[in-house]
Amino acid sequence: MRARYLHVLLALSCLLALSSCVFVRGVDRGGVVLVRRSHPAMVKYGADTFEAHKKKYQISHEAKYVEPVARVSERLKQVIVKPEADWEFVIFKDDSANAFALSGGKVGIHTGLFAIIEDDDPRRSDALLAAVLGHEIAHATANHAEGRMYRALIVGALGASLWYGLEESGEAHSEAGVVAFGLLSYLADSLPLSRRQEYESDQIGALYMAKAGYDPRESIELWRRLDKYHTAVGGKELEKPAFLRSHPTNPRRIAALEEFMPTALRYYRPDARHIESTK
Ligand SMILES: [Zn+2]
Repeated sequence: MRARYLHVLLALSCLLALSSCVFVRGVDRGGVVLVRRSHPAMVKYGADTFEAHKKKYQISHEAKYVEPVARVSERLKQVIVKPEADWEFVIFKDDSANAFALSGGKVGIHTGLFAIIEDDDPRRSDALLAAVLGHEIAHATANHAEGRMYRALIVGALGASLWYGLEESGEAHSEAGVVAFGLLSYLADSLPLSRRQEYESDQIGALYMAKAGYDPRESIELWRRLDKYHTAVGGKELEKPAFLRSHPTNPRRIAALEEFMPTALRYYRPDARHIESTK
């Protein structure tokens, strides 16, 4: 077999091994959450990035946003173990229904999300907000950004070794081999990893909701509402086939959450006064 194919095969088999083995689930079927400690460098990076974001974009201090976020995040924080996190929840003036989390416990919520979660029943609004915040907190406690960075470093090293291998064997078109590897690694590793992290955050977020006294079934309602919103707004992401998306499709994540719900409900404490009394 020609050297070029040997190098490509070796790099691809390493990639497949990485794809299938290295992802360590952050939550098991029994609902036990594995909290990963963040590297101090990532905590600093998250804090610095968040500070820059706060300077660049407008922050909302309106009570109709700040009060529910403070109320719900306080309850969620009491069921989370993440000693190195310095939790901060900031509302940004942005009409898109979005939220994000950075390493070290920094969470941003767009004002546009409140149109999705508002409800005549204030307890339901809080539960829907808990679903949003629980999902974002889960990204932070499961160290998802760090996981993606380590994987990118490993895949980069594999790509570099493939490059040197092809160059050393004097193969023509070695660039094409490395570009093909980069594309394959994106499709076979980066995108599936990102989707797995989304499913995982949905599940961990539902567990945090349940433990904090919010009905975890409202996380399914949140995704139903977001599905309607995404369908109405449209956009390029919705035009892509499922395997090209960085996030699972809404119907798939709703189905996955429904499947996980019996586990989340085992942790549900509707009467959360035991938590509130510790404030
Ligand atoms: Zn997410």
